[in-house]
Amino acid sequence: MYFSKSFIPILKNNPTEAKIKSHQLMLRVGMIKQSSAGIYSWLPLGFKVMKKIEQIVREEQDRVGVQEILMPTIQSSEIWKESGRYDDYGEEMLRIKDRQNREMLYGPTNEELITEIFRSSIKSYKSLPQLLYHIQWKFRDELRPRFGIMRCREFYMKDAYSFDLTDEDALFSYNKFFLSYLRTFKRLNLSAIPMAADTGPIGGNLSHEFIILAETGESKIYTDKRIFDVDYSSTLIQNSSLEKLRNDYEKFYSVTDEKFNKEEFENKVLAEHRVNTKGIEVGHIFYFGDKYSRPMNASVDFDGKKEFVKMGSYGIGVSRLVGAIIEAKYNDKDEIMKWPISVSPYDCAIIPMINKNDSSNLEKSNKIFEYLKSKNIDAIIDDTDENISAKIKKFNLIGIPYQLIIGKKTEGDFFEFKEVGSETQKLKIEEIASQISKAKSN
Ligand code: ATP
Ligand code: MG
Repeated sequence: MYFSKSFIPILKNNPTEAKIKSHQLMLRVGMIKQSSAGIYSWLPLGFKVMKKIEQIVREEQDRVGVQEILMPTIQSSEIWKESGRYDDYGEEMLRIKDRQNREMLYGPTNEELITEIFRSSIKSYKSLPQLLYHIQWKFRDELRPRFGIMRCREFYMKDAYSFDLTDEDALFSYNKFFLSYLRTFKRLNLSAIPMAADTGPIGGNLSHEFIILAETGESKIYTDKRIFDVDYSSTLIQNSSLEKLRNDYEKFYSVTDEKFNKEEFENKVLAEHRVNTKGIEVGHIFYFGDKYSRPMNASVDFDGKKEFVKMGSYGIGVSRLVGAIIEAKYNDKDEIMKWPISVSPYDCAIIPMINKNDSSNLEKSNKIFEYLKSKNIDAIIDDTDENISAKIKKFNLIGIPYQLIIGKKTEGDFFEFKEVGSETQKLKIEEIASQISKAKSN
């Protein structure tokens, strides 16, 4: 891809309407464009990042045995009347009437719809557990949409739902998601901590929020810093192993302000271990038993008895994660962004110095591009006639983690190569490709 042909509308300066760095950067490098309050179009750069995040989320759901489906964005009000939430949900729900004057709505979440799907087909306890997820747009008419795609009205979410016969089985399902979330955020190069949370309007009794630390986050958090060192890598998908994992985390005090109690915090956490800061909620899991299955009559036959299934729901803010990663990785003082290679819009920027009447650097760039492509490395060539330092500044903002510069200092087979934030190296193209490939496979 040539930069001159790409749709990456860069702004000269930070947009003044944006208050936090992720919002500034996303507008500055043309990842998104606002279409109306809290509603955005995703332009190529932003969309590429979001799609990569989505794919990682998907793979980690699949890995713990969750099945992917796709439910619609528009739902009928009938099922929400059954659960009793049609009135409770209030003004955050966007209500629509169709031409027959039927009450419809744009789904803010899908507990009702999935329960309806489940109850229409699953009749025997032998089909349990059922673990299902989808990745779909949601609409919540937030009172104060702000911070760009961090708190917007239309957003992209992975939501999963579990159905089990007993509380114990349901806990096993819950713990599978707990592990899959830790794995997902690790692959996004984020350290997300699980925190005991309130269950809010979704209701129920067991819940964790997954929070990444960031000064601009909306959640206040109080935790024991040793929680960052909990190692889950050897956890198996077995009851005992998953319970041990939960215990390893729950040993440490870790709550958001809703559950915060000063006395408890000071009693349980030594002063030198106390962390009191802010964070961004990127995921939220709930166990709520028969809260929906009972009013909606979703049951299975067990030993001739009707049992309401025990349910949980599990969300990840896929679009919010794009902003959250920027909050975690962007150095706004030096204006340097570095995407984790797992989600970067491109793997490598090829930055040639372009002289008038001399196309040799561009030809070199084309050859390098083809070579990298043959190694499965996705590069973009900056074929514009800006000077080298302007180009580097631009790519520092865009955040592609590797830059290959073809300029005055290029000697024979050796190219200037830089991992953003590190020293420049002089390497042969084969070595460059293998460094990038190695980073991609980690
Ligand atoms: P919040 O407390 O931030 O409003 P929530 O508890 O309402 O979140 P859930 O219903 O658990 O959120 O939704 C699952 C995930 O979807 C959240 O963890 C968050 O990452 C994301 N999310 C929720 N609301 C928004 C929004 N308005 N804009 C972008 N992402 C959102
Ligand atoms: Mg909310």
